[in-house]
This record gives sequence, C-alpha cells and structure tokens, in this order.
Amino acid sequence: MATLPLAGARTEDIVLAGPRGFCAGVDRAIEIVEQALKVCPPPVYVRKEIVHNRHVVEALRAKGAHFVDELSEVPDDATVIFSAHGIAPAVREEARRRGLRVIDATCPLVTKVHLEAIRYAREGYSIILVGHADHDEVVGTMGEAPDRMFLIAHPEDVDRLAVPDPEKVAYLTQTTLSVDDTRDCIEALRRRFPRIVGPSKDDICYATQNRQAAVKTVAGEVDVLLVIGAANSSNANRLVEVSRVMRTPSYLINDKHDIRPEWLAGARRVGITAGASTPEFLVSEVVEELRRAHGAQVREVRVVEEDVRFGLPRELEDMAREADKTLSARDGTAPAERA
Ligand code: SF4
Repeated sequence: MATLPLAGARTEDIVLAGPRGFCAGVDRAIEIVEQALKVCPPPVYVRKEIVHNRHVVEALRAKGAHFVDELSEVPDDATVIFSAHGIAPAVREEARRRGLRVIDATCPLVTKVHLEAIRYAREGYSIILVGHADHDEVVGTMGEAPDRMFLIAHPEDVDRLAVPDPEKVAYLTQTTLSVDDTRDCIEALRRRFPRIVGPSKDDICYATQNRQAAVKTVAGEVDVLLVIGAANSSNANRLVEVSRVMRTPSYLINDKHDIRPEWLAGARRVGITAGASTPEFLVSEVVEELRRAHGAQVREVRVVEEDVRFGLPRELEDMAREADKTLSARDGTAPAERA
C-alpha cells in the first residue's frame, strides 16, 4: 500500500456510516456454507460467488468450499449450494435431473421477487425488470419468465420498450438498485403505461435502502467517502453513486491496500461505509490505517438500527439430520457485527 499523506491538511475525523456491511441475506448465505461444510460429506460445491466479495470467498475456500461457475463442474451426487443472488429455474431443474444434493442460499428477499415474476407471468403480464444486465440476480429473475420479461436500466430505456399489450404490463426491480434512480424509472414506466402494476413501492431491499440512507447523511458531512466493497457488488457501486450525486467524491475499494493518497489529500473528514457483502474486519483495517497515519477521531452516524435475521433453509437441516449431526447454534450477533 502507498503511504498515506501526512503533510498538508490531515484527516481529523473519520465518520462511519451505519448501517453498513453485512445484511441478513449475506450473513445467512455465509452461514449456510459454513454449516454445510460441517454437516455434509465433502466435497461441498458453491455455484458462483456465494456473495460478491473476494475476501469472503477466499475464507470459505480455505475452509473447504469449492467454488464453480456452472453446474457442469460439479460431479454427480455432490452437494451444491446456490448463491445469495438466486438462480434461474433451468439451473434448479438441471440439478434435480442430475440428482445433485442442493442447498439454496438465495436471499429470501430475492426469492420474493422471483415469486412476483412467476405470479405476473401466470396472469399474462409482460414484466419489465429494472436492473443491471449480467448481474447474477437479474439473470436468475429473468429466467423465471424469459419470454415475458424485458430489462431496463434507465428511464430513457422505457421509450424503446415494445410490449405486446401496453394495457397488461407489470414491473419488478432488482433488490440492490439506487433508490432514487429506480424511482425515476418507475415514474417513466407509469407515464408510458398508466395501467402498469407492480409492488407497492419497489423491490429494493431494506439493507440497500438503509445503507444508501446512511450514505446520504454521511456524504453531507465529509470531504470524501470510501466505500469498501467489490467491483461486481451492485449495492456497493450504488453507494459510490449516491455519494457522488451529492457531490461528495467517493471511491470503491476492496480493502485498505486500494486507498490512494491523492484521494485523501486535503480531506479533513473522511467517510467510510461498506457494501452488504463486505465483512466488518475490512472496515476496521481501513479505520486503523487512517488512524495510524493521521491520528483521526472516529465517530459513527447511524441512521437506523437493523435486526433482520433469516432462518436457515430446511434442506440444510434435513441434511444435518440425515448425517446424524446438529447445526451449530447461531451466534445471535447482528449481521453487521459478524466479521
Ligand atoms: S442486499 Fe438485500 S437482497 Fe441482497 S442479500 Fe442482502 S438483504 Fe438480500
């Protein structure tokens, strides 16, 4: 890592955004892999990154998890875990056909969007999904009704939509979008399709909303905001955008090694947050680095408390029972505190 600047204006304040870091869906997905490694016969495979964070994936790989991109890399009869982002039904069907033992770590809030897609498709709607092409979650959701779904990412995309019946249109959204951009997309959809139906607001999950709300508050108080998260993490990228919209420079970093001294030159107040897939120890390392270089004070601005917690999937409990093993007790700490 480059040495952080000590000359010129020093960073006096580090402002931590709260909530930040792990959400309940990520916490659950990681726990599913950890518990599966204890109760299932090896090898245990995970299709795709369980959550979008290299540090998390490496830690689970070190404990014995095998990460693959596709089911074709999983041997017959093996155990495979589906990631928190969800899967298309075709993947589930392939696993069933091959007799793989499946544990589904899809976040329940992603599953909710899949169920909405299935319902609208069954009722004959064309479904507009607001989301980012190629993101694992979008690929999975589109797979629920590929013939009926249309993907848009921006309000300008709405004019280009060609649906068979403009009177029978529904919308859904990816769970990790920008709250403000999504509102603009939904307004554009409502203008073009006045009879459009959809969720009462959008499908953006509580964790995405809360982390963006915290960034809005902190970005107004700091000179620069560091967002700790992976380049392929949708919600982490959105945090950077939210800050920049507020004209507070913001940078996405994997960890303390990515900090560039020039970003902090002249910044007296530095904000720090983390995407929903980022373990808290990476935040602590960044804070420690800044404190060591600048002697800065640390305070937290917490806009809301979170106590969401999801249960483990039944198939994991069944597999533990089959193996005559018991799942470890869950530690009960709030997700964001579990590093
Ligand atoms: S970011 Fe939201 S939808 Fe994604 S895993 Fe977390 S709680 Fe679930």
